[in-house]
Amino acid sequence: MPLPTIEKAARVRDAANMPDYDAYRADFSWQDAKANIASFADGKLNIAHVAVDRHVLAGHGDQIALRWIAKSGEGTDFTYAELQDRTNRFANILKARGIKKGERVYALLGRVSELYIAALGTMKAGAVFCPLFSAFGPEPIQSRMEIGDAAALITSTRLYKRKVQGIRAKLPALREIFLTDGEVDETLHLAPLMETASPAFDTTPMDPEDMALLHFTSGTTGKPKGVVHVHEAVVTHNMTGRIALDLRPGDVYWCTADPGWVTGTSYGIIAPLTNRTTMIVDEAEFDVERWYGSLEREGVNVWYTAPTAIRMLMKAGADAARAHTFPKLRFMASVGEPLNPEAVIWGNETFGMPFHDNWWQTETGGIMIANFASMDVKAGSMGKPLPGIDAGIVEVTEHGVREITEPSAMGELALRPGWPSMMRAYLHEDERYAKCFRDGWYLSGDLAMRDADGYFWFVGRSNDLIKSAGHLIGPFEVESALMEHPAVAEVGVIGVPDETSGEIVKAYVALKSGHGATEDLKLELIGHARKKLGPAVAPKDIAFRTNLPKTRSGKIMRRLLKARELGLPEGDISTLESDEQ
Ligand code: ATP
Ligand code: MG
Repeated sequence: MPLPTIEKAARVRDAANMPDYDAYRADFSWQDAKANIASFADGKLNIAHVAVDRHVLAGHGDQIALRWIAKSGEGTDFTYAELQDRTNRFANILKARGIKKGERVYALLGRVSELYIAALGTMKAGAVFCPLFSAFGPEPIQSRMEIGDAAALITSTRLYKRKVQGIRAKLPALREIFLTDGEVDETLHLAPLMETASPAFDTTPMDPEDMALLHFTSGTTGKPKGVVHVHEAVVTHNMTGRIALDLRPGDVYWCTADPGWVTGTSYGIIAPLTNRTTMIVDEAEFDVERWYGSLEREGVNVWYTAPTAIRMLMKAGADAARAHTFPKLRFMASVGEPLNPEAVIWGNETFGMPFHDNWWQTETGGIMIANFASMDVKAGSMGKPLPGIDAGIVEVTEHGVREITEPSAMGELALRPGWPSMMRAYLHEDERYAKCFRDGWYLSGDLAMRDADGYFWFVGRSNDLIKSAGHLIGPFEVESALMEHPAVAEVGVIGVPDETSGEIVKAYVALKSGHGATEDLKLELIGHARKKLGPAVAPKDIAFRTNLPKTRSGKIMRRLLKARELGLPEGDISTLESDEQ
């Protein structure tokens, strides 16, 4: 059965920031995109200036930049002028404590306002910001601080005592620790310093190639890498916010990602502020009622979330959504993992608009392939490359990289290097970095195909591809077929070694409540998959799990399913969210 296409009405297309993809793409240049945000003389710029100061200078200081919702539900607003004041004070504090240009300032905080102030204030001072997930344990914190030679850390008393105190002696480069809410050992209490710091600061003009951010990858496929991004990346953040997320000045925008991973910074801080939106930040974790309540109460216009969250909302049922109305909602997008067609269709039925899937990586710094507001959505596709981005499907052999132009042929997803937010290094891993670039391509490590209309379709990570009885099987296809079954809430598919077939397809399934993990259901699911996919591709075996192992950024860790299946070492599990096996 062909997958459905969700067509866009002419009025929706015409109202989009990019009404005509082909025309916009043909006209686009990164120089023009840069001119849109140009800030200082001599081509210098600073992400924080583009995000905050620029808007205050233009007379928008009274607009709300950040609405922070505490766990208690209480909201606190920061206007652009207030955000400028706070970030200036933080930059002054860093300078006064001797933190120099290019030095790394880490944050280990939940989604509290100080995290956002620290990110922008650090960049204002010319230092490099590196966020860590607050849920990391001491060991992953230590290794990430070592890789980045952390000079300063901002955290809370509770997190300091539980996670940093014990490793501090092992981090000789760490000179300053700021605590948001107190003072322990040789630390500094940030609140009184903020009170007395000057609210005036001249944001440091940076070279476009100066380092601004250090981000660690999600660790889905192995040990996380430290990815370096520069100030010029803001050109991509700003442009993709406008084109891929359809952001407009004054929009209320909610990105549900934590700044502990790249989405929460590129699209949870920089893109929304540089596009002068009001961003919503919720301190609390996922909760169905709370999320629907926030969408409705805050009048969210643009919502950016992830497949795991969407699947949890689907699991809770459409009635939970229908108890609310979302008249202000205009655009919904998703990233981080393949978005099953089922989820796109559910979005369309439940909210009257589809989720728009988009694809990118920590390494690309910003959205590279997307379903745009003006474009029909083919459910299950990642969409088309952004203007200014050349994407291809390639075959990599020992002879080099060859582009595959035949439609719907599978290969590695590759990009032509040179966009502003492309990573500039894997910190201290030059060889690994060099391996990503070959014959004029950046190689993503993901497998995909491009159809005759130019839409890209995700197949799987190259490590996850299953070779069974002469067939090459992408796990996403099998997972999406099983997701269509009403009992299935979540599914991860791997290849298990087999003497006759090489590998057999095995699925791990988490069920929706009200469905028992029975032998009958297992057979029914296998039958369902066979009907959809044929016997060669359908899983031969299914195991039921209460939860699947996931990274903190919400990605199913298929390598862990496989290691556990085969009794092999689990490898680096620093980003694993606690799971039940
Ligand atoms: P690591 O590189 O440490 O193994 P990771 O690749 O999961 O972790 P991220 O950079 O956070 O780290 O994630 C990027 C990856 O997420 C992509 O390479 C891709 O595999 C997956 N991904 C992101 N968006 C999508 C999408 N829309 N559809 C399918 N996969 C996606
Ligand atoms: Mg990766």
